[in-house]
Amino acid sequence: MIQELAEKRIFNAAHEAAMNYIDGIEEQDVYPSAESRRLLENFDEPLQTETLDAEKVLALLNENGGPNTCAQIGGRYFGFVNGGAVPAALAVKWLSDVWDQNGGLYVASPINGKLESVCEKWLKEIFALPEQTIVSFVSGTTLANLTALTAARYHLLKNQGWDVNEQGLYGAPKIKIVAHEQVHSSVKKTISLLGFGLDSVQWLPSDDQGRYIPGTLPPLDDSTLVLMQAGNANTGSYDSFTEVCQAAEQAGAWVHIDGAFGLWAAACEKLKHLTAGMHLASSWSVDAHKTLNAPYDSGIVMCKHPESLYKAMYSKGEYFVLSERDSLSYSPEMSKRSRAIELWATMKYLGKQGIDELVLGLHQRALQLADGLQQLDITVLNEVVFNQVLLRMDTEAKTDALVEKLQNSGETWLGGTTWLGQRAMRVSVCSWRTSEADIERIVRLFERMIGEV
Ligand SMILES: *Cc1c(COP(=O)(O)O)cnc(C)c1O
Repeated sequence: MIQELAEKRIFNAAHEAAMNYIDGIEEQDVYPSAESRRLLENFDEPLQTETLDAEKVLALLNENGGPNTCAQIGGRYFGFVNGGAVPAALAVKWLSDVWDQNGGLYVASPINGKLESVCEKWLKEIFALPEQTIVSFVSGTTLANLTALTAARYHLLKNQGWDVNEQGLYGAPKIKIVAHEQVHSSVKKTISLLGFGLDSVQWLPSDDQGRYIPGTLPPLDDSTLVLMQAGNANTGSYDSFTEVCQAAEQAGAWVHIDGAFGLWAAACEKLKHLTAGMHLASSWSVDAHKTLNAPYDSGIVMCKHPESLYKAMYSKGEYFVLSERDSLSYSPEMSKRSRAIELWATMKYLGKQGIDELVLGLHQRALQLADGLQQLDITVLNEVVFNQVLLRMDTEAKTDALVEKLQNSGETWLGGTTWLGQRAMRVSVCSWRTSEADIERIVRLFERMIGEV
């Protein structure tokens, strides 16, 4: 028998487990220890026949799963570019989880539909984008890139008198793709997914920070797609947009900016110089679950050509009940989480000033870390323009050994990478929770561990 909704024991138990998790977050290993990881074996069991007691299921997860989380809502996780979560938004997400809405159609969730429209308005204002820009909500920047480039494909082929929806890609006119070597792997994946093929890209060189080199742009026309980046995943560097976007606009080319974490610089008075000219592009991708610290998963795609996005994405079903604005007309997904709800909550809670301070704080902590580590035997490889710090010791072996030691310390977690052919460590400061004291603690940790490699 399935337990009734009115039996609230299970929700209360979940609440208690979550509160305990929050209370223990500073003491918990930032990455699960080997001992904790052995608990994962407790999940290796056959699916039983009978329905289980709900509290048993929850306890099983809590006891074996909790210690196997990364302490991402704490202040000392610096892996990838993962972002923390603003508590106000986490709590709102909890409530909306209980609502269990399907965000695909307005009629399936009027509240999600309404908040998508509200978020669209606010985001256009925050990023100072053209009035006609349409905004759509997907799982992350990978999907946002896919959505934007599918719209671009439709648009650029339409320019050549070709309807890709009806006629497909076999025999289609060629789209010229221009990108520099350092565009994100998710963009490269999208190029493959869309059937362009990576070999068809005209690859431009990039500079030592991973940026587009001004003056290297080939001639553009109205079949050209230019791929740019606001925030390199290693160095945090920004391409300069103005010259390229202006040339593209004149030629009828399409410029897409992947700004997964970096686009948020535009929301910060002191950092918005980094994204100068971005409003001149055709489409943009950004994550709310990274820099903005909205809960997972929350990606955003914004497009200056609403008609092309709509044509590329819309679907029609006999049983659909369409309204003025339905999410499924603007993204690849149909059924989906009502993620606009907690995105709205994150922005509503922080306000414009709060977002500005959050973004600036991440930058300041990154600078503090770079300063602290430079005093030690560590080279900072990048210009710390945003929240990324790229580091190296004097040999590759020491660099890798230090990464491993830090990862096993339980006190922090950060990843290794290869930058311009050499091993490096990357730190991404992207949680609201990371304090000056956290950074000081990490610098001392580095100091101790350097002595051991
Ligand atoms: C994280 C990231 C992506 C991918 O975003 P997801 O939300 O993980 O899909 C794309 N581009 C850049 C620059 C990123 O940092």
